[in-house]
Amino acid sequence: MSKPNRIEMDRRIPVGISSCLLGEQVRYNGGHKRSRYCLDVLADCFEFEPFCPEMAIGLGVPREPIRLVGEADEVPRARGTVDQSIDVTEPLLASGYRIARERSHLRGYILMKGSPSCGMERVKVYHPNGMPNTADAGVFVRALRETNPVLPVEEEARLNDAVLRENFIARVFAYDDWKTTVEADPSYHNLIQFHSRQKYLLMAHHYQGYRELGRYLANAHELPLEQAMDEYLWGFMTHMSHKATRKTHTNVLMHMLGYLKKSIDSQCKQELLEGIEQYRLGQVPLVVPLALLKHYLKRFGGDYICEQTYLNPYPHELGLRNYI
Ligand code: SF4
Repeated sequence: MSKPNRIEMDRRIPVGISSCLLGEQVRYNGGHKRSRYCLDVLADCFEFEPFCPEMAIGLGVPREPIRLVGEADEVPRARGTVDQSIDVTEPLLASGYRIARERSHLRGYILMKGSPSCGMERVKVYHPNGMPNTADAGVFVRALRETNPVLPVEEEARLNDAVLRENFIARVFAYDDWKTTVEADPSYHNLIQFHSRQKYLLMAHHYQGYRELGRYLANAHELPLEQAMDEYLWGFMTHMSHKATRKTHTNVLMHMLGYLKKSIDSQCKQELLEGIEQYRLGQVPLVVPLALLKHYLKRFGGDYICEQTYLNPYPHELGLRNYI
């Protein structure tokens, strides 16, 4: 993945991050896990707000490492690796609940993998006899997600995967759109407008979900506004967490092509169809048919289709669609 040109944005989006990923020396051994991708690329778009839960609960540096301990059928606890009587589960949970409340302005969270505090999933859980047992999420993250289940979260290591990277960043920008338009100025009108411009992005992530939310909104005005917004957002962010695939992107491209049927000649249409087919077959990345489609939509598409976030879900300089 090459470093894109510097990205210019009016404002950067607030995103939480495990402090060690920003190079802060807060790990148990006084080290860090500086992430070049976060610092050299994403920092152009994201205003990172670092937090180290283990430091926040008073564990110093260096410190005895902790790990998750529990039987297969119990919720694991965070205990000392040497002195098992040390149990920091409750303070770590409390820090997760607190950060979720105090930083409700965050649009996403990037986490350090494998950590008994910050790991999003597949963190090793040890049996009380010391043998590796099962896997779970870190304790801080458990509380963070319980308090704010719609917040997009991802592990930094998983951002090396082009599809997961694109998915996470699209979710952060979509959540930012929600926060700055619907949440900041709540109304049924703004809710419908949001759904309308997110239509094709949502469709790429979960077609059925898109249809369900459309049906939900048809009667949403009969519900109290706050309830309608909460239920819609939960559905939207849940569906957006599904990975968009070549098949679902192809479906969206074909739908969008439909808007040009009457305005382009058969040669242009054939060119577009070939680009979409090459993408479907994995011969070219998404950016190829999309660039062509955007070119024609700009000239011949109406406001509705040109305002779809699917066409520009995040700064193109990130180059995310060159890899999927
Ligand atoms: S608790 Fe989280 S932020 Fe702190 S060192 Fe461990 S992984 Fe990094």
